[in-house]
Amino acid sequence: MIAAHFYRKLAGSGRAGGRLRRALGRNFALLAMLIGALGSTVLRPRTLTACRSSSAFFVSTGVSSIRRWQSAVPGRAYPPRPTQAKAVAVPAAAETDNTVVSRLPSTLADIYALSEQELCGFLQDTLHQPKYRAKQVHAWLYQRGAASFEEMSDLPKSLRLGLAEHFKLGCLEVAFEQVSKDGTVKRAYRLADGQLIEAVLMPYEDGRRTACISSQAGCAMGCVFCQTGQMGFARQLTESEIFEQALLFSRDLTKGGERLSNVVFMGEGEPLNNRRQVFGAVRRLNADLGIGARHITVSTVGLAPRIRDLADAVDDPEGEGALLSQIKVAVSLHATRDAERTAIMPVNRRFPIAELMAACQYYVQRTNRRLSFEWALISGQNDSPQVANELGRLLSPLKGKCHVNVINVNPTTGFEGQPGSKAAMDRFLNILNEDWGIPATMRVRRGLDINAGCGQLKNELLGRELSTKGLAATPPRSPEASSE
Ligand code: SF4
Repeated sequence: MIAAHFYRKLAGSGRAGGRLRRALGRNFALLAMLIGALGSTVLRPRTLTACRSSSAFFVSTGVSSIRRWQSAVPGRAYPPRPTQAKAVAVPAAAETDNTVVSRLPSTLADIYALSEQELCGFLQDTLHQPKYRAKQVHAWLYQRGAASFEEMSDLPKSLRLGLAEHFKLGCLEVAFEQVSKDGTVKRAYRLADGQLIEAVLMPYEDGRRTACISSQAGCAMGCVFCQTGQMGFARQLTESEIFEQALLFSRDLTKGGERLSNVVFMGEGEPLNNRRQVFGAVRRLNADLGIGARHITVSTVGLAPRIRDLADAVDDPEGEGALLSQIKVAVSLHATRDAERTAIMPVNRRFPIAELMAACQYYVQRTNRRLSFEWALISGQNDSPQVANELGRLLSPLKGKCHVNVINVNPTTGFEGQPGSKAAMDRFLNILNEDWGIPATMRVRRGLDINAGCGQLKNELLGRELSTKGLAATPPRSPEASSE
């Protein structure tokens, strides 16, 4: 096989290749076998990432590695990998990882994946329970914060045992947790297939308890300032995996007499690239945890057509649109000119600023709702008075219907940009507020002492795991794989 591969690679499949093959005859096959054997002995997969330009390295890897490698070749994938960011390893999902094999999902079904109606049907049909039991179990699961069936003390013991025979509570395993001195809790969750995702709980002095959750494992959008973007995309999360991140925080808060009040989709991933699962989770946050749609924020990197779709949710007031037209939408902007935005957010090539702003205007006109814009202040790049004025001008058509959240960029290992100074921040906010009448506030970075920025904890854990297992870095999977 190796010889045949070289035979094709070196001689090519065209007419010239045919002539070369005929000229070399049997000697060529021998030569190819020799090079192939040399390749498989000397060139190990580990060397692959450092030497992407040589097709000879195909010989020493399996087919899946070759596919991943192909997808990482510059120019093959959208969006292109940013040059400033180093691609960091995302371990392939689980198949070669022994520690993951031991975590394979049990045969028990995840009770959180059932709707109230399905739970009711199961209790009646299989466990022969009266209808009202479904309400009791549902309340234990979502309002009373039960972490085991045993805790459901007002249910008959036989019912608790019956439930435990068929179900487990959730499928996320807390792989790591850090608590900041400002009260921020950051968790890395391990999924059933070994993927890691992050979620953060932020307590605010005004009583809000906000969960920041992930919609994908990794992200294909490649924003260069973001640790997750530097790691690449692994897979879409299911509705249940998304919902459970918030549920677990809600459960802990309930035990302390508090409740989860807000959820923001600002963790790993682009939520509007996994809409069905994200919107399903939004429904459950609303129905099961009682979080109002106006307290749920979906953040997007700026997928213009998806923003228009959200605006069109108003056409379905009796159905899903009733909820979706009420959620908050936050658009990550970070630059006012295409060249600069493309340099830090490759998605801008596909949806440039003019197209994005047209979609934002459409959204505001159709829904009459306010949009938020996120602005990560990067020293010397987008924190000058000139940029603040350009931003004011850009957002003027949305005046009265938008708000700018300015946050100092979170330093990450693969990005050289640094946070802006306090003076630059004040000046920036002042220009937007005073000169342009665009409300702008500074968002305080939370959990600074625990790497609470998106992807930072996961990156640290992956680095540790890879080095203890002696694994080589694996190139990120194709961004196309992230589309719905
Ligand atoms: S900032 Fe958001 S959209 Fe951009 S790479 Fe990070 S997770 Fe993805």
